[in-house]
Amino acid sequence: MSTVVIDGAHIAAGDGTEYEDGHIVAADGVVTRVGAGPAPEARGARRIDGRGCLATPGLVNTHHHLYQWATQGMFADATLFEWLTGSYELWRRLDARTVHETTTAGTAWLALSGCTTASDHHYVFPREAGAMVAAEVEAARAVGIRLDLARGSMDRGRSAGGLPPDSVTETFQGALTATEAAVDAHHDPAFGAMTRVAVAPCSPFTVSRELMAASAELARAKGVRLHTHLAETRDEEEQCRAEFGAAPVDYAEQLGWLGEDVWLAHAVHLSDGAIARVADTGTGVAHCPSSNARLGAGICRTPELLRAGTAVGLGVDGPASSELTGLAGEMRQAVLMARARSGPRALSARQALHMATLGGARCLGRQAEIGSIETGKLADIALWRIDGFGHDAIDDPVVALVFGPQARLEHLLVGGSAVVEGGELRTVSADSAAAAGRRAHRRITAREGTR
Ligand SMILES: [Zn+2]
Repeated sequence: MSTVVIDGAHIAAGDGTEYEDGHIVAADGVVTRVGAGPAPEARGARRIDGRGCLATPGLVNTHHHLYQWATQGMFADATLFEWLTGSYELWRRLDARTVHETTTAGTAWLALSGCTTASDHHYVFPREAGAMVAAEVEAARAVGIRLDLARGSMDRGRSAGGLPPDSVTETFQGALTATEAAVDAHHDPAFGAMTRVAVAPCSPFTVSRELMAASAELARAKGVRLHTHLAETRDEEEQCRAEFGAAPVDYAEQLGWLGEDVWLAHAVHLSDGAIARVADTGTGVAHCPSSNARLGAGICRTPELLRAGTAVGLGVDGPASSELTGLAGEMRQAVLMARARSGPRALSARQALHMATLGGARCLGRQAEIGSIETGKLADIALWRIDGFGHDAIDDPVVALVFGPQARLEHLLVGGSAVVEGGELRTVSADSAAAAGRRAHRRITAREGTR
């Protein structure tokens, strides 16, 4: 039995409980004790000195596109539809090798910024690209964070009135068959799974009505979750109304796309009625504030969603629309945007931390496993240094983490195993992960004939 003890940290357990000078004990990957004061004697345990640190649950990223590591910084001043149209021309070059490289870079970066579980929405499957899903799963395993892979799809290319070029789309049947195969090959329903798979057609403007409906049926037959982009921009809403005669949330509901097994990325443009439908059906929302600001999409009504009881998690979204790609920054951004829109009491630092942890766990259906430091849950824990320059004049540790400068991540445990130790990645080399990301970027953005 392997035991880990963290002593002397301020603990924000994620379930609303805090201990000023507390301890955490984990055995065989599961929390066995959390409380105030020093830890009891545990012979043979690995001890982590938590003094000067804030311990939080490992952060949960509910929406990402890891492959976009390769196209960061492009189309920096574009609208979503312009940005997508330009990006598709680069993404059509994706293959399994590139996905392995971008997953290595992206998950390593997430680990170094305190994330222990990430959902990755991958929806670009060019023909002849090779085994991209397997490559992604393998790379994330090596880095050692949990991957909830949302297997995306697009079947509405330009010839069918959609936005993407036909070369990056799949056929209706091809997408369904490949998605089912991804679930069969990689979805692990067991407690503490390192890999889960969700069914995740991309968005209403890239996916046919038939594929949206059939995807919901497939997910329910397989007992896995459903994810998609919805209500991100005004352009999307206008297109949805013109084409389907319904606002995005109504369209989703018609297709069986609201429910406790669904979480939606963005949900920026929601009417009061749509918020009520999302909340009443138990549908989750992945709030991606930096991406929404970077693309000028709008500001999600998070205070209203939270008041209605919706599970709201945070997502950094793809690094091509949110180059900062860290959840601590997203907590801050979520607070600032909510307050800019709705006043000083719209969202607190602790509500932001809750979204980044337990709210995200609820979106992914993992609230019994992760999202809070509680006895019986997985020992997925981030330890942030908050006693240095920039934080040491802020008395409240949670305010220091959310409002202060980016805190140094001292340790990151995933199921009790050290992924980051002393600020260094322990599973793969950070230098080689960065090099993999650079290679992918250069290859994908190289002009034709220079690759
Ligand atoms: Zn997205």
